[in-house]
Amino acid sequence: MQPVLTLQNTFPMLNIVIFGPPGSGKGTQSDKIIEKYGLIHLSTGDLLRAEIAGETELGLKAKNIMEKGALVPDEVVIGMIKNRIDANIGSNGFIFDGFPRTVEQAEALDNLLSEWNLKINLMISLTVERQELITRLLKRGKEQGRTDDNLETIENRIKVYEDQTTPVMAFYTSQGKAQTVDGIGTIDEIFDRIVEVIK
Ligand code: ADP
Repeated sequence: MQPVLTLQNTFPMLNIVIFGPPGSGKGTQSDKIIEKYGLIHLSTGDLLRAEIAGETELGLKAKNIMEKGALVPDEVVIGMIKNRIDANIGSNGFIFDGFPRTVEQAEALDNLLSEWNLKINLMISLTVERQELITRLLKRGKEQGRTDDNLETIENRIKVYEDQTTPVMAFYTSQGKAQTVDGIGTIDEIFDRIVEVIK
């Protein structure tokens, strides 16, 4: 029988989910992973903030939800991710940052990738304790003026993470893909730990 030539074995892609609570350093470490491995960064938070800045209909709806620290509806973020995956097939791979945030999103991501014969290869979970998260996010709020980096919204984002997002860890653990990385230390120390896990 002839082997079937698929996109995946023509262009092997490395697809990583970077996971962790708000303030755990997902965005910072994503930048370094992209630089080293040439992956495409798909951050639903960044995509949503771009919609808000562009004053699109989607952005106007997302703004209030994000200011409360709640989750934007699954179908909205899944639609945004689908567009970006379909537009970047054939790249070195993707790093998903801030997505999936619910088990429904994780299942949808597997389905979107399987249409291209692709899968998630690895999930990296950054661990940082609660008080350190709050300290980092309050600092970022002062420095960068993100409107969701105030104490009330931060506390709600952490609660939403605990209630709705932590089950995503079990989802990838059951697939044998979850790896935990200590998120305390310098940016370079944490990145070195991540590189060891990717190797
Ligand atoms: P952080 O992880 O630091 O809270 P993000 O930039 O990833 O920051 O997300 C900011 C906000 O954007 C979230 O609190 C949520 O309202 C919304 N958001 C981002 N990604 C998703 C997602 N995958 N599903 C639902 N809402 C999301």
